[in-house]
Amino acid sequence: MTALVTPLAGKLVWLAFALCWGVIRHRYAHRAQRNRQIEERDRVYEIVLLTLGFIGYLGVPALYLATSWLSFGDYPFQPIMFWAGLATSIGALWLFWRSHADLGQNFSIKLVIREKHSLVTTGVYRVIRHPMYASFLLWSLAQLLLLPNWITGLAGMFGFCILYFARIRREEKLMLEKFGNDYRQYMTHTKRLVPYIL
Ligand code: SAH
Repeated sequence: MTALVTPLAGKLVWLAFALCWGVIRHRYAHRAQRNRQIEERDRVYEIVLLTLGFIGYLGVPALYLATSWLSFGDYPFQPIMFWAGLATSIGALWLFWRSHADLGQNFSIKLVIREKHSLVTTGVYRVIRHPMYASFLLWSLAQLLLLPNWITGLAGMFGFCILYFARIRREEKLMLEKFGNDYRQYMTHTKRLVPYIL
């Protein structure tokens, strides 16, 4: 068993999970289209942020997997990193899936209000306000563990920071404008990313 835990195994797990990630996103983004978009905020800025996030989560790892250009940033691979990376990937994928399922047709990649937008406070949204972003944080940790290269690992962290810190206040402001006291009330008993802590 231990003999199977090689850098290649880490790369294959990363690829398999990235694929599942894409399938889930595609499926729910497609479904949400049925709920028409009526308002969109900061479109160009959001596209720039999403492009940078995409580079961090997919572009740089793809370069690492397909070429040896980033090999100067390699660090030694340890089996424990593989197991921790696998566990983190499973947690990240589960949370990514559940947040899409709970958000349903209110989901959007960009900052959007939909025609029949309802405030979701159940499922994984019961304890944290941003479970999807929490799943991105877990996925960037998984990337750091499964692909033993500093550039690739930091690129995932960079992707998370860009998507999270540049958006979170504007997204909560939009939710407050749309749902007013209901969202204010929801904020009083939930944290953003880590239940009861952060
Ligand atoms: N920040 C959330 C959702 C990400 S999807 C998370 O991390 O899980 C982004 C879109 O979801 C935003 O455009 C916003 O319109 C919508 N949204 C965010 N929180 C919501 C909620 N609690 N209920 C309904 N829609 C929400």
